[in-house]
Amino acid sequence: ALVLGIETSCDETGIGIVRGTELLANVIASSMDEHARYGGVVPEIAARAHLEALEPTIHEALRVAGVELAELDAVAVTSGPGLAGALMVGVGAAKALALSLEKPLYAVNHLVGHVGADVLNHEPLVGDGELELPTIALLVSGGHTSLLYVRDLVSDVELLGETIDDAAGEAFDKVARLLGLPYPGGPEIDRVAASGDPTAIRFPRGLTASKDQERHRYDFSFSGLKTAVARHVEAARAAGEEVPVADVAASFREAVVDVLLTKALAACVELGVPRLLLGGGVIANRRLREVAIERCADAGVALRIPPLALCTDNGAMIAALAAQRIAAGYPPSELGFGADSTLPVTSIQV
Ligand code: ATP
Ligand code: FE
Ligand code: MG
Repeated sequence: ALVLGIETSCDETGIGIVRGTELLANVIASSMDEHARYGGVVPEIAARAHLEALEPTIHEALRVAGVELAELDAVAVTSGPGLAGALMVGVGAAKALALSLEKPLYAVNHLVGHVGADVLNHEPLVGDGELELPTIALLVSGGHTSLLYVRDLVSDVELLGETIDDAAGEAFDKVARLLGLPYPGGPEIDRVAASGDPTAIRFPRGLTASKDQERHRYDFSFSGLKTAVARHVEAARAAGEEVPVADVAASFREAVVDVLLTKALAACVELGVPRLLLGGGVIANRRLREVAIERCADAGVALRIPPLALCTDNGAMIAALAAQRIAAGYPPSELGFGADSTLPVTSIQV
């Protein structure tokens, strides 16, 4: 089916057009520049930016895909989770579009979209062939850090574990701020860490102690790590020493990567699923990719990493998931659905 997907859960206005598992367009307008001076996404600004960007972005996606609105089989939209006001702009626009075109509308879960994006990935950055299920999926983004057991993209996603405090991307952003680096911090830490020593400081690996293995086997915690970095930075400043920014960044990054992959690979081994799929904006991290490739090879686990444009927020992943639902014979969403800022990852059909 030919589907146009609308994504407005955070600061990216994403419009994607797919035909089944074929990607035809993936156009993004970001309001990140407007948020940078506040050190984080400002919901009001994001919502207003979506309102302004939607129409031109939809037209650009149609132009790139070489299709006309009338040819679409369906419209898809992120209904949650995300910023309530930002989501509402997308949901309102999608309903208006679907009604005026008299096309079915599919409400899509943003988090499942991050995982489902891989069906568009026919030339994976790592791995080969097409996505195989079941798979363990590690979703690491600005708002989420979740380990998933994906048996079916449109009907069966199990949450194995998630962060009990900060998301991995959030930890990158907060530690960057501690080190005086600009927002968003993830890419900055990655850049600075390249010249640092990852073994310089042994930062804590949250929830990996044996006492956590029962209750928090597949959960994550990054706030203790963030506090440890803060203490280290304060101690250096109090002693009148220069903060070893590159070493702190490299050691912090190493701790995050270590915990993420230790838990993800433990799930693959313990649950007997020798496949790992990575998704979300933090997948841009170079060290995370490197270590994932090494450890998956050692463990005999098939690794898939989609290209970055499908890892960060985008409309193509939303369209792709709706196309999967159509192919599996599921009906469209009832038009009464609204934006749900806390939609859980297990709620796939809205
Ligand atoms: P969610 O999907 O949970 O609602 P989100 O959509 O805002 O959150 P993404 O846009 O997928 O999250 O990812 C943004 C996050 O990724 C930011 O926290 C950013 O710092 C982080 N990030 C981006 N590049 C890198 C990198 N190279 N290393 C580490 N983190 C990174
Ligand atoms: Fe996202
Ligand atoms: Mg984002």
